Amino acid sequence: MDNNAVVVTGAANGIGAAIARLLVERGWTVIGLDRDEPRLQSLQVELGTAFTPVAGDVSRRADHERARQKAIEQSRLTGWVNNAGIERPTTARALDEDDLQAIVQVNLIGTMLGCAVATEGLRGAGGAIVNMSSIHSLAGFPESFVYAATKGGIDAMTRQLAVEEAAQGIRCNAVRPGAVMTPLTQSFLAASDDPEALLAEYADLHPIRRLIEPVEIARVVAFLLSDEASFVNGESITVDGGATARCYPYPT
Ligand code: NAD
Repeated sequence: MDNNAVVVTGAANGIGAAIARLLVERGWTVIGLDRDEPRLQSLQVELGTAFTPVAGDVSRRADHERARQKAIEQSRLTGWVNNAGIERPTTARALDEDDLQAIVQVNLIGTMLGCAVATEGLRGAGGAIVNMSSIHSLAGFPESFVYAATKGGIDAMTRQLAVEEAAQGIRCNAVRPGAVMTPLTQSFLAASDDPEALLAEYADLHPIRRLIEPVEIARVVAFLLSDEASFVNGESITVDGGATARCYPYPT
């Protein structure tokens, strides 16, 4: 990508780290914004000068602005990936307000602030924004009351921004993963009474009966950032091995 710069939020772990690795491999200069400073530093050791860590919190606009500034100092900013997100079990019936606030702050407000700061940075040069949604935006899952709503909001803001900014040469799309093997998923497995059964349940969610590798999400993000996707705008691409295409629980 001619050393063009891209900001990736939540770049220190999981899907974000896979996105950072793949984009560096494909010639991007990557600025990684994450609150996990030690993991950001080790990714920089791994990726070298093509990766710049920015320690910060996506729920603070100033932290997005610092990431944007780093990107502009280094190269031409043409990409932005709002990937950072958290998930905690919630139901409407037993709603914990700390969980409500935390999930909305990171997933919804963090992505909105990222879109706002990215939009200012991409005006003129043009470029692409990719937001990280989830199949939770399409269907109900256990204890996902708040998380699902934030991901539905991300799909809606993606469409909205795509329409608002198309005339400025900015495209905006989202990716909706199924269950990906990341530290987030590992934390749910670790908290389970029967991690093996839960792992099998996650795998069986997908007609392609396994979990998704983070790089399989990163490849779709890289496509949406690239000129290969020059007329893809306002779309959320589902990457779930057919999970949401299935209605009947087919036997193995
Ligand atoms: P992860 O927990 O493994 O990594 C998330 C990263 O985001 C971490 O490095 C964390 O430090 C960072 N982060 C969290 N809150 C932050 C904040 N306020 N400011 C800055 N950085 C912050 O998670 P993951 O599984 O890689 O998920 C990445 C994205 O993909 C999330 O938006 C998640 O909702 C989405 N997603 C994940 C799955 C899955 O199965 N893992 C499925 C669908 C969607």
